[in-house]
Amino acid sequence: MLRVAVVGGGPSGSCAAEVLAKAGIQTWLFERKLDNAKPCGGAIPLCMVDEFDLPESIIDRKVRNMRMISPSNREVDITLDKVYSPDDKSEYIGMCRREVMDAFMRDRAASLGTNLINGLVTKIDTGSNRQGPYTITYSDYSTGKSTGEAKSLEVDLIIGADGANSRVATAMDAGDYNVAIAFQERIKLPNEEMAYYEDLAEMYVGTDVSPDFYGWVFPKYDHVAVGTGTMQKNQTLIKSLQKGVRERAKKRLVHGEVIKVEAHPIPEHPRPRRVVGRMALVGDAAGYVTKSSGEGIYFAAKSGRMCAEQIVESSRSGELIPSEADLKKYLKKWDRKYGATYIVLSILQAIFYSNDTAREAFVAMCDDMDVQRLTFDSYLYKKVVAMNPWQQIKLTLLTVDALARGIFRNQTSYKPVPSAVRSDEEVNAMLAIKTITGGIKVDNNKDASKQNLASEQGERDPAVSKKS
Ligand SMILES: Cc1cc2nc3c(=O)[nH]c(=O)nc-3n(C[C@H](O)[C@H](O)[C@H](O)COP(=O)(O)OP(=O)(O)OC[C@H]3O[C@@H](n4cnc5c(N)ncnc54)[C@H](O)[C@@H]3O)c2cc1C
Repeated sequence: MLRVAVVGGGPSGSCAAEVLAKAGIQTWLFERKLDNAKPCGGAIPLCMVDEFDLPESIIDRKVRNMRMISPSNREVDITLDKVYSPDDKSEYIGMCRREVMDAFMRDRAASLGTNLINGLVTKIDTGSNRQGPYTITYSDYSTGKSTGEAKSLEVDLIIGADGANSRVATAMDAGDYNVAIAFQERIKLPNEEMAYYEDLAEMYVGTDVSPDFYGWVFPKYDHVAVGTGTMQKNQTLIKSLQKGVRERAKKRLVHGEVIKVEAHPIPEHPRPRRVVGRMALVGDAAGYVTKSSGEGIYFAAKSGRMCAEQIVESSRSGELIPSEADLKKYLKKWDRKYGATYIVLSILQAIFYSNDTAREAFVAMCDDMDVQRLTFDSYLYKKVVAMNPWQQIKLTLLTVDALARGIFRNQTSYKPVPSAVRSDEEVNAMLAIKTITGGIKVDNNKDASKQNLASEQGERDPAVSKKS
């Protein structure tokens, strides 16, 4: 009878374990911390709720309004009432706290027959030529001891669902990937400010908040998650970029109190090898986060499920041990289904997050109803949306316009957006008393926007480039 270990109890691991356990395969799910709060914005597309049978109780907020804010503070609203129908409120972006969502999915996998182990996997012996059987050494915390009890388990197959710092990936010599660094503060707000974020999320773009990504304010049940991300080469700037988001949103976050500070790597592309022997990677361990949006929760859950379904099929529900070639069928199916999505979003990021003028044009483009519908159809439902010829021409013209203008101008300074619920006088008086309490401390010598502007100019102007 096939024995499978799933390492990592996030969305990818739990969804894999659930499928295996349902098929009657002996499954162990290892999670080092059962109350783990994965640093994450927690935004999920609507289709995930149905597809993964998620209860409403794990969704803090149903966001129907997305506000895009450009470097010059132009605000463009994407309102689902307009994109779809004002009478039908069934469409939304789900905002979750990961500690709640992950616990639900993990417990469900356990209730279906998975052996859930509260343990940190510390070593994997991969057998000859990495073909197994595999011996997993782990510290078992189920006894409640802080040091854990050293134990081991032999299995025939391993699914690596252990995130961006995957130990399974190291054991199977999966090769490295580039990562982005994401930073987030969870901030409690006064009632008026929190009410403004009731069903609204904000995305800020600009050199001050990120040279290659976006900053966000996402609502949770009693606080907002405020964060940003950037490629690894800019990681020393991450705190000053976070300061940039805080600065731009400060009138909307006035008198906020930081209750949690979190940071984590985000993979930028798949690893060179995702299946070796009878070890397969899924979710962040494999590198399945999309560019542009930084979305990874749905893709983690889906890849865990697809990998496990392949194992069930190839093993005839656990009667046989699947081969490496069998496991690679999951990769083929995955790449066929999502390969194009990753490429398109990567191109969009390279074009529209590259400098402030392109970002300005990107926000302007989001005012177009066709662009809004395309974006939301493909995000919420994860389907490839066909454009009619007129939409194609319009999108091409808008893109060319954005690119052309991006070559010529750049933003030189950034201002806070106005408060959405108070007069400027009132909010300035509040800011004079205090801004945001707690959270990051930033080295003032590291002014992200100036450094980033210099590097952007350097990339375009060889004379500046030589000097720096
Ligand atoms: C700041 C930030 C914001 C983000 N915002 C969003 C967003 O809004 N929407 C979105 O879709 N995506 C977002 N993402 C991406 C998303 O968080 C990931 O893509 C997703 O969590 C991947 O799920 P996973 O199950 O593959 O891995 P993870 O969620 O990382 O889960 C891995 C699990 O493995 C456990 N583990 C690790 N090592 C071991 C070990 N040796 N032994 C036992 N257990 C182990 C960990 O404790 C963890 O629970 C964000 C990421 C970051 C960093």
